[in-house]
Amino acid sequence: MKRFGIRGAILDFIADPQEQAKAWRYFDDGLLVVGDGRVELLDSAAKHIDSLKDQLPVFEYPDCLICPGFIDTHVHYAQTRIIGSPAPGLLEWLDTYTFPEELRFQDPEYAALVADEFLDECLRNGTTTGQVYPTVHEDSADEFFAAAHRRGLRMVAGKVLMDRHAPQGLLDGEDSGEAGTERLIEKWHGKGRQSYSITLRFAGTSTRRQMELCRRLVDRYPNLLFHTHLSETLAEIDWTLGLFPDCSDYLSVYEKYGVVSNHSVFAHCIHLSESEQQRLADAGASAALCPTSNLFLGSGLAPIKRLADQKIKLSLGTDVGGGTSFSMLQTMHEMYKVAQLGEQGVGPFDLFYLATLGGARALHLDQHVGNFDQGKEADFVVLDAGGSNLSQQKFDRAGSVAERLFAYIILGGTHSVRETWSLGRRVWQRDSE
Ligand SMILES: [Zn+2]
Repeated sequence: MKRFGIRGAILDFIADPQEQAKAWRYFDDGLLVVGDGRVELLDSAAKHIDSLKDQLPVFEYPDCLICPGFIDTHVHYAQTRIIGSPAPGLLEWLDTYTFPEELRFQDPEYAALVADEFLDECLRNGTTTGQVYPTVHEDSADEFFAAAHRRGLRMVAGKVLMDRHAPQGLLDGEDSGEAGTERLIEKWHGKGRQSYSITLRFAGTSTRRQMELCRRLVDRYPNLLFHTHLSETLAEIDWTLGLFPDCSDYLSVYEKYGVVSNHSVFAHCIHLSESEQQRLADAGASAALCPTSNLFLGSGLAPIKRLADQKIKLSLGTDVGGGTSFSMLQTMHEMYKVAQLGEQGVGPFDLFYLATLGGARALHLDQHVGNFDQGKEADFVVLDAGGSNLSQQKFDRAGSVAERLFAYIILGGTHSVRETWSLGRRVWQRDSE
C-alpha cells in the first residue's frame, strides 16, 4: 500500500507546551495522508476528502484519537521478563533480580527471543521508538538491532559498558568495552532506522579506566547519543560519591569524564541539586523521567516542573523492568500524579508532548519522527476506549480536547491501543490478536 489516508481525530505537537501557547495541532475530523511510508499531508478532512477519496484508500477511525507513535527514551529490553520483581530499593533489586537475569543474555539465542518479546510489547502499547539498554554482552545489542531492523522499527540502543561491582559474567574485559562498542557502531549506526547510543550502566559500575574510555568514545563519535542513569536514589548517590571522592556531586563525575553534552540523556534525575540542574540545562543535556520505576522502587519523585522551569530538555521513559508498565499512557498517568505531589503545573498536553515530540527531540530524531510534519516517517498510534464502557462514557462527556487527553492518561493503558503503524505499515492490531 503505497499511498493512503487515515481519518479521525488527530493530534500532534510542533513545540513544547511549556514554552509556547499554541504548541499542538488538533483536528476533530482530521486527515493524514501517507505515501511511501512518509507523511504527505495533515489537515482537516473536510478540505480534502472529496478530491482524494477516489484517488486513494481512506481508513476511517471514528471515535479514535490518532497521534504520533510513542517514544520511550529509557528502557531495558533485557529486563522484560523481570518486570514486577519486588525489592526494597534499586541496589538490592539489581543484585537480586537484574544481574542474574542479565547474565542469561550471554546466550545470543536467549537475547534474540527476548528482543522479539520486547518489541511485541512495545508495539502492543503504541511505542514505535525506544532508547534501549541491552546488557554488557555485544551479542545482546547485536540481536536487538537485528530484531528491530527486521521489523523496520526506529530504535536506539548500545552495548552496556560496565567493568566492576557486578557478577563476573557482566563485566567488560580489558578491550571488550571499546572494541565491542566500535564494532556495533560500525555495523548498526545509520543502518536502516537503527542508531547507536554510547551506553554506560552508571558511574558506580565503571572503573576510572572505563570512564576514560567513555570519554574517548564520546570524543570520537560526537554525533552519537550518550545514555546513562543519574541521581536515581539517595543510596546510589552516596555510594557513587564514595567511589569518586574527588567529585563534589553526582553530575560532576560525568562532567569530569567529558560525557555531558547536548547529546547526553540521563535517566531519572530525581535528587539533583540546584547547581546540577543548572549545569544540565547549560549543557543542553536531557532528562528521561521514569515515574513508574521511581514509585515502584521507592526512588523518589522527579521534580518535573522545576526541571522544566530550568529549561532542561525532558522526555519520558518506562524504565522496564524497574518500571512497571510498557504503556506510555500509564507512564504519563504516574508522571501526572508525581507532579501533583510536587509543584503541579503539568497537564495532558505537556504529557502527550513528552511522549512524542519531546522524546524525539531528546534523542535527536525529530527530523525523522515525533510529529506529522510533511516528509516525516509515518509512525503513529490509533487510540480508542478499548472496550471500556467507563472510558467511553468519559470520552463522550469530555468537553474539551484537554479533557479527552486526560481521560486517556488516567483511564487508558495497553487496552487503549487499537493499532500501531510504523513507516506507513500496520504493525499491531489489537482486535486481530
Ligand atoms: Zn534504567
